[in-house]
Amino acid sequence: MARSSSARAALSLKVVPVLFPAKADRTCPSCSARALVRQDPDSLRGLVCSACGWSDAEASAFFLAEEEGPFEDAVLREREEH
Ligand SMILES: [Zn+2]
Repeated sequence: MARSSSARAALSLKVVPVLFPAKADRTCPSCSARALVRQDPDSLRGLVCSACGWSDAEASAFFLAEEEGPFEDAVLREREEH
């Protein structure tokens, strides 16, 4: 039954994007809590877990920054307020 197994392979390919959506993954590699935040709001590097305290200064925080909005927007907001 080679036909049914290839159909199953095709199906699994369609499932992958559902399991790994293009969204910020805040899952902590240490405690698995979805509690990762940026270590420094002004930097695209550095992650810290607000649940267990795990941190990685070299980890890319770009995906979190992207989710929170472009840097330019934050800078413009800051300028408008002052
Ligand atoms: Zn953690």
